[in-house]
Parts: sequence; C-alpha cells; structure tokens
Amino acid sequence: MEEKKKMYKCKYCGEEFEKPLLLAHHVRAKHKRAKKREKKGVAVEKMSEQINKTIEAIGILKGLQVSPHLSEDEKGVLGDVSKRIEELLAYIQKSK
Ligand SMILES: [Zn+2]
Repeated sequence: MEEKKKMYKCKYCGEEFEKPLLLAHHVRAKHKRAKKREKKGVAVEKMSEQINKTIEAIGILKGLQVSPHLSEDEKGVLGDVSKRIEELLAYIQKSK
C-alpha cells in the first residue's frame, strides 16, 4: 500500500510543501507583507470602532448638557468634558 505523503499546505495561497521548513520559508518570503497588512487592517477596524463609540459618547454628553435639570455649573462641566473628548478625537483622527 502506498503511503500518502503528508503535505503542508500554505494557508494563504494553498501551495503545498513536503516539509514544514519549506512552508515556513515560503510564507516568510511570499506572505509576510500580506500578514502585516492583515494585522494593520484589524487594528484600524478596532480604532474606528472606538472612534464611533467616542462620537456616540460625545452625543450623549451634549444631550445631557441641554437638560433643564442641570445647573449652569454642571452644564459648564459637561461642556468642558465633551470639548476635551472632541479635541482628543480630532487629534487621533488627524494622526491616523
Ligand atoms: Zn503561500
């Protein structure tokens, strides 16, 4: 009975190799850049999720700010806080 040789398949392009070392070589040579880009994509996705949540938070703060139950002082504090968050957000979006 013929024994089927175990092959090591590249998870990026499907190319098969007889030895894990050859596969590792291939991945390093051909897909390293792609792998990096993939990682960066995830990071960017997480970042924009965070930014969206922050924009939501600013919206909530601004909604609270116009509440009739707050004193002028409290409204001032909320205004400061949302301004600070907006500045941080603008800074992050600029550096992205
Ligand atoms: Zn490959």
